[in-house]
Amino acid sequence: MPPSRTRSGVSSTAPYSIKPMLNISKTIERLTSNKKRLSDEKLSTNKTIEFFSEIKNKRLRSSPLKENPNFSIYNTYCPYDKARLLRRIHSYGVLNWTIDDDRLTPLECARYGWICFPAVNGKNHLRCVTCNSSLIIKLNEQAIDDDDDDNDDNDREEKFSEELNAKLISSYLDKLSTDHTENCPWSINPTPYSTYAISSYDYQEVLTKLGETIQELNSNKDKLKGNFKKILNFEELKILKDWTNNEYEDKILNIALLGWKLKIQEFGTKKIIFLQCNTCNRRILLDDNHHIEISSDIDKEEIDLCGEHKQWCAIKNGYKSILALI
Ligand SMILES: [Zn+2]
Ligand SMILES: [Zn+2]
Repeated sequence: MPPSRTRSGVSSTAPYSIKPMLNISKTIERLTSNKKRLSDEKLSTNKTIEFFSEIKNKRLRSSPLKENPNFSIYNTYCPYDKARLLRRIHSYGVLNWTIDDDRLTPLECARYGWICFPAVNGKNHLRCVTCNSSLIIKLNEQAIDDDDDDNDDNDREEKFSEELNAKLISSYLDKLSTDHTENCPWSINPTPYSTYAISSYDYQEVLTKLGETIQELNSNKDKLKGNFKKILNFEELKILKDWTNNEYEDKILNIALLGWKLKIQEFGTKKIIFLQCNTCNRRILLDDNHHIEISSDIDKEEIDLCGEHKQWCAIKNGYKSILALI
């Protein structure tokens, strides 16, 4: 029996019985209650609260933050809000963010409250959501002519360029913290990595979204063209199959668990179909005849649903923990 669907075509509830939820609902209730109690108890010693108290008592009156009548620190400074963290990460698109570095990532910038301006404002131009400070990332983009291989001068220039950029990256990583206005809380209290990671604490939401994604993909399975590399082994796939009563194709279960959602955008008469990860922003463009990976040089013949994620993506490093929640 297909689950009920909303007008938008997305199920409003999890499609399958989530056994862990039924079995441990009382435990969750108790945990939630404990969390609230703990939070209350820790308020007096919480560093963030201490920090705000200090600001309120000593410094905020003369702060640039206070001079903005529309400013509300509590509307913009929510370091433990995962949805807002993901929205900040989503502001780093392929057109406005061109930094390809393992350390200076959209996640790292977003942890410190920075969003990336739209491309019309220039590339790699960041703004703090709370204090409105601006930070422009500029690296040395000296082009090395690949045709002149075995050229010692080019090798030296390339090495110099890499070393210079490594130093610049280190400097910008410091600036993520230091380039806020004096009292901006992001500078000393960024979003912790644990807020970004897949957590067993919010398993109910994780499984509900997984169920919705499976249904959406199944409704559009004719559009999932491409040779998808099998990521899940037999046992892992069986967990998903049992959970979904063997109603869906392996391909759909693979794509959904690996965090990909199907997107369709129309530009005039042209329709663009792609998979997108909402956790790291990565996109895989699908086509009726072939597929093209955006910003990727991996094998065109096979779509690697795990390898396509950014190295820092929580799904890439944590999709197995979703299986453990089922
Ligand atoms: Zn700031
Ligand atoms: Zn991802």
